[in-house]
Amino acid sequence: MGHPTSLFLTTPDPNLRCAICLDIFSHPVSLLSCSHTFCSDCLATCVNATTKKNPPCCPECRVLIEDDPHKVRVIESTIQNLVVRCKNAYLDEDCNSEDYCPQECGWTGPLSEWSLHAARECAVEIVQCVCGYNCPRGQMGGHVGSKECVERAVDKRVAPVQKELEAAKQREEGYKSTIEKLVSERDDLQSRVQDELDQNRMLTEQNTWLRHTKDSAKKASLNKIQRLKREKKELMSQLAVMEGRVKNNGVDRSGNGSGKKRRRSASKDGRIRAVSNGHELEVHAIVG
Ligand SMILES: [Zn+2]
Ligand SMILES: [Zn+2]
Ligand SMILES: [Zn+2]
Ligand SMILES: [Zn+2]
Repeated sequence: MGHPTSLFLTTPDPNLRCAICLDIFSHPVSLLSCSHTFCSDCLATCVNATTKKNPPCCPECRVLIEDDPHKVRVIESTIQNLVVRCKNAYLDEDCNSEDYCPQECGWTGPLSEWSLHAARECAVEIVQCVCGYNCPRGQMGGHVGSKECVERAVDKRVAPVQKELEAAKQREEGYKSTIEKLVSERDDLQSRVQDELDQNRMLTEQNTWLRHTKDSAKKASLNKIQRLKREKKELMSQLAVMEGRVKNNGVDRSGNGSGKKRRRSASKDGRIRAVSNGHELEVHAIVG
């Protein structure tokens, strides 16, 4: 963008005006094909906006741009020598700064010194102290090192530290609650695991008891079966003896009995009862 015409003490030659921004050339460049001149930035913006379908051409005469534009040093030096006002020559009526009231600067000089004047000399140029306070350069001498300046500087240094401290405190609170949550989760898990272990132990004990009970019941049954088998065998042999006797009943009655009395009895229905080892055995005897 060019320099606004209001900057110059007298209205510059209209030939120094850029056809794109309508201000006075800033870093003027010229096209080889048509010699038309524009601000360097203005032309670059136009060229950058072109596409393959619409190749770059001069914004003024539409001639195709085939070569890089070249700097026009004569025009540049003419413009740099034009007399300009300070950028603070006019009051900013809309200014609502809290730190200062705008003031006018009466400086005039060549455009080449315009930036340097504002950057280093202009007494009404607003500058910033290291403490962050803004005021015209001419008033800065009374401010730098003042109580207000020192307090502001301290605040400026302390504020970020305080902010960081508060953030750290908040992070700490966050960590604390996370840790509390994790501890409670751990306790919960521990108690669940303990419950499961207790249950497993109880089941194991029950299983052991059941196995023992089963084993002793089996052993008792086997013992009983063995005993019954023995008794059966004994009774069978007694039965055989009795059957023999019953067959020889007639012989016994003829009076040749040995006199040894046996505990036996024959009931009316012809059954014979024999008692052995406390067990009563009933047999059907075939009485001839
Ligand atoms: Zn321009
Ligand atoms: Zn042209
Ligand atoms: Zn000034
Ligand atoms: Zn200060």
